[in-house]
Amino acid sequence: PAPHRIQDRNLVDETAIEAKLAGLADGSLDFENTPDTDPDLPGNRAWGRKIVDKMLSSTLGNDAVAKSLIHTPNELNAVVDSAVAASDSWVAMGAAARAAILHRAGAALEAHRADLLEVMGSECGKTLDQGDPEVSEAIDFAHYYAQLGLELEHVEGATFVPSKLTVITPPWNFPVAIPAGSTLSALAAGSAVIIKPARQAARSGAVMVEALWEAGVPRDVLRLVQLSERDLGTELVSHPSVDRLILTGGYETAELFRSFRKDLPLLAETSGKNAVIVTPHADLDLAAKDVAASAFGHAGQKCSAASLVILVGSAAESKRFHNQLIDAARSLKVGYPNDPQTQMGPVIEKATGKLLRGLTVLGEGENWVLEPKQLDDSGKLWSPGVRSGVKRGSEFHLTEYFGPILGVMTAATLEEAVSMVNDTDFGLTSGLHSLDSGEMDYWLKNIQAGNLYINRGITGAIVQRQPFGGWKKSAIGAGTKAGGPNYLVGMGSWQDAPVVT
Ligand code: GLU
Repeated sequence: PAPHRIQDRNLVDETAIEAKLAGLADGSLDFENTPDTDPDLPGNRAWGRKIVDKMLSSTLGNDAVAKSLIHTPNELNAVVDSAVAASDSWVAMGAAARAAILHRAGAALEAHRADLLEVMGSECGKTLDQGDPEVSEAIDFAHYYAQLGLELEHVEGATFVPSKLTVITPPWNFPVAIPAGSTLSALAAGSAVIIKPARQAARSGAVMVEALWEAGVPRDVLRLVQLSERDLGTELVSHPSVDRLILTGGYETAELFRSFRKDLPLLAETSGKNAVIVTPHADLDLAAKDVAASAFGHAGQKCSAASLVILVGSAAESKRFHNQLIDAARSLKVGYPNDPQTQMGPVIEKATGKLLRGLTVLGEGENWVLEPKQLDDSGKLWSPGVRSGVKRGSEFHLTEYFGPILGVMTAATLEEAVSMVNDTDFGLTSGLHSLDSGEMDYWLKNIQAGNLYINRGITGAIVQRQPFGGWKKSAIGAGTKAGGPNYLVGMGSWQDAPVVT
């Protein structure tokens, strides 16, 4: 079974997971063959078709975005002041009452699953197979952070004082899960929140926020804004009343934000340049499938996506791996999410600059094994590309492109491959395909990345089970992973030293 079907569950509900796993094991749960009759039953094809039909004309979130628009510094100050004022009542409510609201938020997100999929598809080009586990992840965050918020109150010998106001600037590539996760974490810790969803994902962020309001998060504790001018963004992230910033985006943006107010605690998840190493001891069929899924899922627009595959020793000569990889990439049906057949959607905006270069310009010694083609006039729809002959130290080796292009490199030994991966400034996700335990040990000890995956794809972290956070330039001020047990601990100050058990 495809991994997302296991992920497509509220993972905090262990009984449901067990039931699902049992269903998968005995074959009784079969997504493809679910009766195709009830369009209100999430997961079956009729339900999926209903959503993709709506994607053509979706206007969900438009009103909320219009109402959230801030035009002047005075308006912005008023939002900041009201959120700071409201934060006291959110703290006074106590962790148990906040947790109850967050659990309701999980239920509200589930109730709005179809709306969220519709708006993510129409606005960000998310296909259903990518968007559906994303909504599940947002729901998981709600329940998991509710629980962590309660735990913060029960640390012996220490009192947690939450930040008053957290500003959150999420990205467009996970337009629901990342804004929801950041927001829910801050709320669970007891902080008020101002969230400014990415411009390209404004409606998706708004629909998510509306679900949280509906669940009982007070509107003045959680403020949604869009800013009519760039300067207002600078004002927001450097405002003296803001005491915490959560950013997911490019490394340069994080550095810029940090330069505005050096004293401001910043939790930033940034860029990646992620590689999968395939050794001669790999299951090459599985490796090809996982590399293709990690490189081309959501058209490669994930910080976690595979951008390089490094073939070690005789794996480089394997026609089998090459053919499987190219077959997998070439057979992807590229299109827009409102076509139910689509497997890979568009890039978020007309490809220009670095991305266009990656899609069209070969470096010295490189060849297209599969040349990316522009499929329509929008400049957004590209078929997947695979280039071979990528040299160590070249532009392609070290640059993050954030699109559907994969580079193939070769290395004589696993040691060399690991050092090629570690050459990059980033350290977000990394993969190894090998069935040899000695190779696994070596790789685990030496690879420099925050999220390590062996014999599976390198995207799709799972709340609670597999928290997500980077190393090197892929993270700033972190050290705790999203969806992991320590994520809330740093979202405030401790009056006495916490007892770490
Ligand atoms: N958490 C996502 C994953 O594991 C990646 C998030 C991102 O692209 O920023 O695939």
